[in-house]
Amino acid sequence: MVKINPDRLLSDLRTLRTFGTYKTGVHRPTYSDIDMQSRRWLVERMTDASLTATIDGIGNVIGRSPAPGPKLLLGSHVETQPHGGWLDGAMGVIFAIEMARAVAEDPALQDCGVDAAAWADEEGHYMSFIGSRSFIGDVTEAEIDGVESKHDGTPLRDALASAGLAGLPRAVLEADRYLGFLEAHIEQGPTLESMAQKIGVVTSIVGTWQYEIIAEGIQNHAGTTAMSLRRDAGRALIKLAHAIDQHFPEIAAERSVWTVGDLRLEPGAPAIVPGRARMLFQFRDADPRQLARFAAAFDDLVAAVAADDPCSITAKQLSASTPSLMHPGFQDALSAAAEQHVPGLHQRMPSGAGHDAQILANVMPAGMMFIPSIGGISHHWSEDSDEADIVIGGQVLATAVGDILAKGRA
Ligand SMILES: [Zn+2]
Repeated sequence: MVKINPDRLLSDLRTLRTFGTYKTGVHRPTYSDIDMQSRRWLVERMTDASLTATIDGIGNVIGRSPAPGPKLLLGSHVETQPHGGWLDGAMGVIFAIEMARAVAEDPALQDCGVDAAAWADEEGHYMSFIGSRSFIGDVTEAEIDGVESKHDGTPLRDALASAGLAGLPRAVLEADRYLGFLEAHIEQGPTLESMAQKIGVVTSIVGTWQYEIIAEGIQNHAGTTAMSLRRDAGRALIKLAHAIDQHFPEIAAERSVWTVGDLRLEPGAPAIVPGRARMLFQFRDADPRQLARFAAAFDDLVAAVAADDPCSITAKQLSASTPSLMHPGFQDALSAAAEQHVPGLHQRMPSGAGHDAQILANVMPAGMMFIPSIGGISHHWSEDSDEADIVIGGQVLATAVGDILAKGRA
């Protein structure tokens, strides 16, 4: 059985936390000085683990194993949300390096190897998943030209140049090098903790469909315009949001979620009837049929509110990602490893958050494993997990990795 070294794993995880410490969390935006320092440190750690490590032209840190036999690719992201947590992404990257070391130390797996990856900008300071998407050949140079920072508008090209990455080649997946990709991550939700379970085996990563809805009315004086004469764009969209919240629970599946993330009234003043309003809306589910059901219901509600309101209402779909199914064989390997180390304390579950594994799943078998998040908190500096749970997660992943590699010889 592949055995991790818990002290070594926790020590690396704690060191990574020192790059951009903010309270008990971390502030490490993609391509910032501190982010690049952490990536260079990862190159050192990967090199120390006998991997050939480089930072590529989009900021991915990739360490390649010299093993001649079956190989797995493991990893996650290393940048954080603004004032985010210390484990989101970081844990999966350090797990990947520990798996490379543990497999190299296992006498029974000397021909097998683990490559470790820290993908760039999963968190979307510039563009979500740009590192893993680049690796699977899904990002053009023209696309890079058009991207800028969501915080301050810095062109991505300038950020790459400042980070010392301009002109470097972008790593591209080598066909047939891997049996597949595995990612470990904190759950970022309360499910495992609330059920006193230690391991979540991800069945699928949800699809997210997003819409922009615009209402056009007539801007006017809020004191002199009679209620019956108003064409109030704000009220039209609030009616729509309310109608969604009334109807969606009737057709929702157990883990369906939907959110009005933004609502803007123009010009936005207490004494003015809004002439225009804009709403951003999304829903998520792991089942494509449920996503289609929501989409049809949403279209009907837009039509119904528009028919009943003096404003014109138009809805445009901004994006529609398909749910990514995790590989059944990898799910079985993770479940069996969890049953071995924490019998009965694991479950299969969908991921409501997006992860790099959904990108890699487009080109190879992919699997994902969660450990509990204390209080279900994430995307906040107070995010944390019990160190004992981190170690359990590492050992479960190592056992699954060993199992998949050994079977990969056949
Ligand atoms: Zn993450």
